[in-house]
Formats: sequence, C-alpha cells, structure tokens
Amino acid sequence: SRASIGVTGLAVMGRNLARNLARHGHTVALHNRSPQRTRDLVDQFGSEGDFVPTHTAEEFVRALERPRKLVVMVKAGTPTDAVIDEFAPLLEPGDIIIDAGNAHFADTRRREAALRERGLHFVGTGVSGGEEGALHGPSIMPGGSASSYDSLGPLFEDIAAKVDGAPCCTHIGPDGAGHFVKMVHNGIEYSDMQLIAESFDLLRGALGYEPAQIADVFRTWNTGRLDSYLIEITAEVLAHTDPATGAPFVDVVADEAEQKGTGRWTVQNGLELGVPITGIAEATFARSLSGHTELRRAARGLAGPTRSAARGGVSERFADDVEQALYASKVVAYAQGFNQIQAGSAEYGWNVDLGAVAAVWRGGCIIRAKFLDDIRGAYRAEAGLPTLLASGEFRSAVEDAQDAWRSVVSTAVRLGIPTPGFSTALAYYDALRAERLPAALVQGQRDYFGAHTYRRVDRDGSFHTTWAADPRAEHEA
Ligand code: NDP
Repeated sequence: SRASIGVTGLAVMGRNLARNLARHGHTVALHNRSPQRTRDLVDQFGSEGDFVPTHTAEEFVRALERPRKLVVMVKAGTPTDAVIDEFAPLLEPGDIIIDAGNAHFADTRRREAALRERGLHFVGTGVSGGEEGALHGPSIMPGGSASSYDSLGPLFEDIAAKVDGAPCCTHIGPDGAGHFVKMVHNGIEYSDMQLIAESFDLLRGALGYEPAQIADVFRTWNTGRLDSYLIEITAEVLAHTDPATGAPFVDVVADEAEQKGTGRWTVQNGLELGVPITGIAEATFARSLSGHTELRRAARGLAGPTRSAARGGVSERFADDVEQALYASKVVAYAQGFNQIQAGSAEYGWNVDLGAVAAVWRGGCIIRAKFLDDIRGAYRAEAGLPTLLASGEFRSAVEDAQDAWRSVVSTAVRLGIPTPGFSTALAYYDALRAERLPAALVQGQRDYFGAHTYRRVDRDGSFHTTWAADPRAEHEA
C-alpha cells in the first residue's frame, strides 16, 4: 500500500481530479467499474505523476495507505450507493470515503450516518469548477467529521484553486454541510446567469445593440465591481460568430435553457426551510418557462409592445443603469443564498462560517468573482449579519444603485422585456425595507375564512374576530 489517496470513477471529473492530485506529487490509486477508463488514463497521462492502476475493489483498497482515502466520482444517485456498498465491507475503522459527486445533501446525511455506525468517515464534498477546475484547481467544499478533515484537508487544499495564496477549500461543517453549500452555490449560479442574460436582453431590446457590442459592454463591466468568471465567459459567448451561418452564435442557439436539477433542489430546500430565495426561484422558473415551447407558441400573438417600435426615450446612460441594476440584483441573490446557508446551518446544527464559504468561492468555482471578497469581509466583520443588504458597504452600494435599478425595471416593463430576476430582486429589497406589509391584510383574510387568528401591533396574545356574527367582537384566542 503506497497510494496516499485513490479515485474511483474515472469519467471526465474523476480523471481530472486524479491528474490534479498526481501533478501535485501525490501517489494516486485508480479504479473504475469498467477497466478501460483506468487503462486510458494511464496510457494518456501516466507521465504526469505517480499512478497506481487497479482493476478490482480489493486491489484498489490494498493500494491505499491508512487511513484510506477513497474519492468516489461516479454518477450521482444509486451509483454512489452501489459503490459505497462495494467498498465499505473492505474498509477498516477510521478509513474515509469521499463522495465528490453532485449528491443531494439529504442523501449525504443518510450515507454519513450509516457509515459512521460502521466506524467509517463519509465526507460529502462539493466540487465546483467543471472539468477544467477539477484539473487546474477547483473550489472544494468538504463536509463530514472535523477529524476526517485533519488528514484529508492538506491534500484537498493542495489541489484547490488559490486566491492570494489561500486555498479555495475549507471544512464546511459536519455530514451534509459541504453538499448543501455546493447546492446553494449552484442556485446562486442560476441566479447570476439569469441576471446577466436579462442584462443582455435589455441592452439589445432597449438600445438595439448587437451581440458583439454587448460583448464589449460586458468586457468593460468585467474591469469593475462585476469582475467575475461568468461575466468574462458571457462576453466570449456574445462575441462568438457561428461558423456555419456567420450569424451571432447567440442567435442560432435554441432559446430553451436546460438544467440538471441542482437549482430545483435549492428552491425546494428554500421552501422547506422557509427562506425567501426569490432570485434563485425566478431564475430556475425562467429556465423552465423557456423550455415550455407549447405554452410559448400558444401565447406568441398576445398583445404588447414590440421591441423595435417601443424603443425610444432610452438614453445611452441606460447601459450604465443596467450595470447598476445588475449589481444590486446580484447583491440580493447572494444575500438570499447566504441566508439559506445560515438557515440550513441552524436547522442541521452545522455551525457554518459564512465568511469562509465566501472565501472558498473566490476562486475555482463557476461563481468566482471579486465581489465574494467583499462578502467575506462583511461576514468577517459581523458573523451573524442578518442580511448582506444591511451591511455597510453593500447597503450603500445598493442604495446608490436603486434609482438606476428602478428605472431599468420600469423601462423593461414599458418595453415588454421580461426581467423576472431584476424585478423580483427589487421587490425583495422594497419588501424588506417596508414599514408595513400587506401581510396584515392576509392575516385578516385568514382569520375571516379559517379562524386562523392574528396578532396585534399594540398588545400581546393571539386574537380572533367573530366575523359572521359581529365583527366588533374580538376575543383572545
Ligand atoms: P458521470 O456523471 O457521467 O458518471 C460516469 C462515471 O460513473 C463513470 O466512471 C462510470 O463508470 C461511473 N458509474 C456509473 N454508474 C456506476 C455504477 N452503478 N457503479 C460504479 N460506477 C458507476 O461522470 P462525470 O465525470 O461527468 O461526473 C462525476 C460526478 O461529478 C457526478 O456526480 C457529477 O454530478 C459530478 N460533476 C460535477 C461537476 C462539477 O462541475 N462539479 C461537473 C460534472 C459532473 P463506467 O465507466 O464503468 O461506466
């Protein structure tokens, strides 16, 4: 046994993670259900480092130094359970199974509890950055026991992305905490992408800019506070011309966004925990709406402004306004996502450090952005911050942006350009800052039809009004 770590599941993600480990000088045992992938890896990349190819589960386990560290990088779902069932009987107490696939955090909690019974550590680990990240430095979010991180942490920190010399990897918290945080990361990613897409649609619809021109606008934005991987790649996608037709690439792509389901998980969990992650929900529904071709076909002729005719009264300043609306909406999306992590952490007793989460998202992952350094700073200054929107820097930035934000949303409404992301973010901002909400009326309605009772602003207790008989009769319930 001479490998410091092993990877089973050598499709694109596992292969690149194994190569990354080997390139950093670690001896990596290799295993895959079908042996061809193992052979291919060694044939193509064997010279990159020290690999120990194995073809049976027993061989794989024997190749590992104790405590054994097995990274499972297989298709998420039942394959993960199958692999665990295959390897767990061959392991000894203290060994560590790392699930680096995209598991649902509830599955991770279940698996962790079952393996803990058998004396094994199970570390559900969020890995973000796609195949490039896996090879060159991903953002890594391990859950599981703190003691497993003692031996695993140094390896993962070694291969993670680095920002200012700091690794984008930290122990997130026990059992499913890592996969939970990865889930919210993906939800925020949906939201970020939707907001950027709406910005594109606005610049095109309201200013008549061509995609290549909009690419330049995004490149400029990318030198400021919006500096991020997603803005950068958006500029490249928009500047790209379809080789077959010579048309802008974005115009030849079918406008039906797909999803693998992590956005849906995030929204479902937001509903379960009662956290209003409206930005993520709208972004997820926007993808779903785009795919409903039959609905869209049926509604296509409905009256409303046509973009070219309605344009006008929009100044060149509009592009700058969109930048501000994008920034403010993005703050809202992140504020909501971090609140969800806060709520998950409280619900499951994880004690997640939100500043540390922001720090590991600064590099390697899809939502990496300069902005995350500011979020880290905000939670460093106040760990229990109720909302990012109320924190000094973000508060003043959003307050400064709000006139432009409102103007962009009203222009969008006037021109009939759908901006669910911008609109819901602004509605969230206005709802949070409101002195009174019409929720009071909703309570009245609930009391009327269902005797659900209400609380009063001026007295403690819960009250019910006997509506049918005599609305003046109120009594404490
Ligand atoms: P896939 O999700 O396509 O899974 C293929 C791998 O799973 C192969 O090694 C395959 O083995 C193995 N596998 C499938 N079923 C079983 C089974 N029943 N028993 C044993 N092995 C099985 O591979 P990817 O590399 O794309 O992704 C791996 C994981 O990483 C997934 O969980 C995915 O969600 C996640 N992922 C993460 C990304 C990220 O950015 N973080 C990006 C992409 C994926 P065989 O060769 O024998 O068929």
